[in-house]
Amino acid sequence: MTNCIFCRIIERSAPAEFLFENEAAISILDKRPIHFGHALILPKQHCETFLDVPPSTLDGLMEATRIVCGALTQSLHLEGFNIFSNNGEVAGQSVFHFHWHVTPRYKNDNIRFELTLKEYSDGEMALIAQRIRAHINSTV
Ligand SMILES: [Zn+2]
Repeated sequence: MTNCIFCRIIERSAPAEFLFENEAAISILDKRPIHFGHALILPKQHCETFLDVPPSTLDGLMEATRIVCGALTQSLHLEGFNIFSNNGEVAGQSVFHFHWHVTPRYKNDNIRFELTLKEYSDGEMALIAQRIRAHINSTV
C-alpha cells in the first residue's frame, strides 16, 4: 500500500469528502479548512510538484477547478476565492502529491497572507526577466 495519503484517497482506501472527479483529477474537501468548503484539486496520477504534473492531465485539472470554484461560489455564497499551491517544503508543501487549494473568501473574513513586497532597483526587473526568457527560449 502506498504511503501517500492522496493516492490512498484516490484508491478509496482512505476516507475523504469527494466533490468532483473526472478522468484526470479529483476534488475533495481539505480536512483542516481556512473556511468551511476549502477544497483541494489534485491529479489522480501521483506526482510531487506542479513541475511533475503530466501535461495530459492539465485540462482535466483545470476543468475540475472551474467546476468546483463555480459550485463553491454558488452553493456557499462566496464573495471571492483564492487558488494557490505550495510546491516544495520551503513553500509550505506538506503532502508531496501535487494539489492546489481553493479557499472561500468573504468580506472582513480576517484572512491575510502576510507578505512583504520587494522593489526592483533600476534595471533589475529587466535583468531578471531576461534571465528567465533566456531559459525558456533554450528549453521550449
Ligand atoms: Zn500520491
